[in-house]
Amino acid sequence: MQRREHRYKVLVIGDLGVGKTSIIKRYVHQHFSANYRATIGVDFALKVLNLDQDTIRLQLWDIAGQERFGNMTRVYYRDALGAFVVFDVARSCTFEAVRKWKEDLDDKVSASGGKRVAAVLLANKCDQDRDDTFAKNYGRMEQFCREHGFINWFETSAKENINIDEAVTCLLRHIMASD
Ligand code: GDP
Ligand code: MG
Repeated sequence: MQRREHRYKVLVIGDLGVGKTSIIKRYVHQHFSANYRATIGVDFALKVLNLDQDTIRLQLWDIAGQERFGNMTRVYYRDALGAFVVFDVARSCTFEAVRKWKEDLDDKVSASGGKRVAAVLLANKCDQDRDDTFAKNYGRMEQFCREHGFINWFETSAKENINIDEAVTCLLRHIMASD
């Protein structure tokens, strides 16, 4: 059977310090470090993987330094087919920012002519205790996902390597289904 090859651009967004770079390094290089230097500008990592009968060249786009502006330039969003929106379970302000990141994502992608991107929500640092706001919302996360247009959500830990492969597979299957 002929393998199909896909090239997917996937964004990793969310507030500063939630673990975006760590998630990418964990997924692509199977490596975790407690002190990455904050990346400057846009950086991306490539991972080639086989899923079902297909080969996927996955480009994961990291952002750095621009988090403080709360949104990103259109170049970053152009041609993206998927996104992970990340927050830190131990810092509720980063959970509250998820909404804003998701709106920004939908606005910029439609402004650059793309269709709506598939988005998966990552509750990262699940090896740590949840703070109160997230703990209160914990039982309502499925509803939160429906309301804000996320395919699904995963509790992840870049540190302990929890659920990152699962989250990527979920997003990729969704993108492939409409490709
Ligand atoms: P970014 O600004 O979103 O790219 O965040 P970084 O990847 O630079 O991570 C910020 C800090 O959180 C670093 O000190 C990481 O080591 C730490 N970190 C990232 N992911 C995890 C995780 O899953 N668990 C824990 N305990 N710490 C993490
Ligand atoms: Mg970073």
